[in-house]
Amino acid sequence: MKIVLCIKQVPDTADIKWTENNTIQREGVESVINPFDMYAIETAVRLKEKLNDAHVTVVSMGPPQAEEILKKAVSMGVDEGFLVSDRKFAGADTVATSRTLAAAIKEKVGDADLVICGQFATDGDTAQTGPSIAQQLNFAQVTYVKEITDYKDGVLTVKKEVEDGVETIDVKLPAVLCMLKCDYEPRRPLIQGFVKAHDAKIQSYGMDDIKLSPEEVGMKGSPTYVSKAFRPEQKQGGEVITPKNPQEAAKMLKDFINR
Ligand code: FAD
Repeated sequence: MKIVLCIKQVPDTADIKWTENNTIQREGVESVINPFDMYAIETAVRLKEKLNDAHVTVVSMGPPQAEEILKKAVSMGVDEGFLVSDRKFAGADTVATSRTLAAAIKEKVGDADLVICGQFATDGDTAQTGPSIAQQLNFAQVTYVKEITDYKDGVLTVKKEVEDGVETIDVKLPAVLCMLKCDYEPRRPLIQGFVKAHDAKIQSYGMDDIKLSPEEVGMKGSPTYVSKAFRPEQKQGGEVITPKNPQEAAKMLKDFINR
């Protein structure tokens, strides 16, 4: 089974800062693997360990420093990784990002059976990239996945979170899965993993390596743009009340409203 993992490097902070072009400021901020993608990696490696013939390739579209997260994935048990990186890809929205990733998967992996993404990236947070890759590749898709529970004759069985519980779904491959936080934790790499990652050669592919025109990538290939980005107004501190009983609480609340 050919498994492809899509992972994104995100700022290691909840305090997202914006550039004057309304894009996320990445300079001067520590970066990490998007937390949901850590579960995608763990899920892919677990599946590979169950099957005899699985090969896992990890891919990220981003600047050259994203090589770091690809190496980390290799240290966790992924077989190989490549970066999709070119100045012409800058300013991509989710359509152009998924189009570029899908083209790179087709060109550099060939007939993938399974693509695993995270459900959301903590910075952009659209949750559009995985489903959009599925659409570009014409694959089935399952979102909000918590676990892969079985694989038989080209069909994966997965557990998917829904509003009031968990559904079990059978999905025929090829498919894209978007992973949530799982009930298991991503593994810590062992020393052999660090050595493998240190020696791994991460190929970087640009515009000339994928079958897309300059009009289909980056800002030119993006039908959406961020016209405005702003922080919601900070709310006032409020007032803490410490009533002795519910009756007093109701009275204090009434007095507060009537003030
Ligand atoms: P989500 O869709 O929430 O991510 C879900 C999953 O998709 C992730 O967990 C991961 O598995 C996968 N995934 C997402 N992104 C990648 C990736 N790059 N590589 C591999 N897997 C991935 N961002 C910039 O960094 N620089 C820019 O200049 C820039 N310009 C933009 C301009 C516009 C007009 C818009 C709308 C967005 C721009 N962005 C830019 C943001 C960029 O489009 C998104 O970061 C990207 O499309 C992914 O969307 P998301 O962050 O919402 O990820």
